[in-house]
Amino acid sequence: MYCKNCGEQMNDNQAICLKCGVKVEDGNKYCANCGAQLNEGAEVCTACGVAVKKAEDKSKIGGQDKLVMGLIAIFIGGLGIHNFMMGETKKGIIKIVLSVACGIGAILGLIDGIRILMDKYTVDATKFF
Ligand SMILES: [Zn+2]
Ligand SMILES: [Zn+2]
Repeated sequence: MYCKNCGEQMNDNQAICLKCGVKVEDGNKYCANCGAQLNEGAEVCTACGVAVKKAEDKSKIGGQDKLVMGLIAIFIGGLGIHNFMMGETKKGIIKIVLSVACGIGAILGLIDGIRILMDKYTVDATKFF
C-alpha cells in the first residue's frame, strides 16, 4: 500500500503516512496500489490498472449535505429529521420518543448537530443513539 498523498510506501496496518502525516484514505495524487503518480481526476491508475478510490466528499454525511444536516439537528433535532434523512431510522424514532416522553430528544439532536459539524459524527443505522 502506498500513501495517496505523497506516494510513500506504507505497511497495511498504518493509519497515517509517516512521511506526510495524511490519513491512509486521504489524498488523490498517487495510486494506493502501486504508488504511481496519478493524473488529476484519473479514475483508473495507468500504471497498474486498479480503479482509483475517490477521497470521501467531506461536505457530505450519510449522502446529505453536512451543513444542512448539522443545522437541522441543532434547531429541530428533537424530531429526528436529520437521522431519517441519513437513513438512521432507529436514531430518529428514539429522538421522537424521548422528545415526547421527557423532552430530551432536542438535546440529543443538538449533540448530533455539533458532532456533525465537527466531523465527529458517524452515520450508523444499527445504533439507537
Ligand atoms: Zn504520505
Ligand atoms: Zn497503480
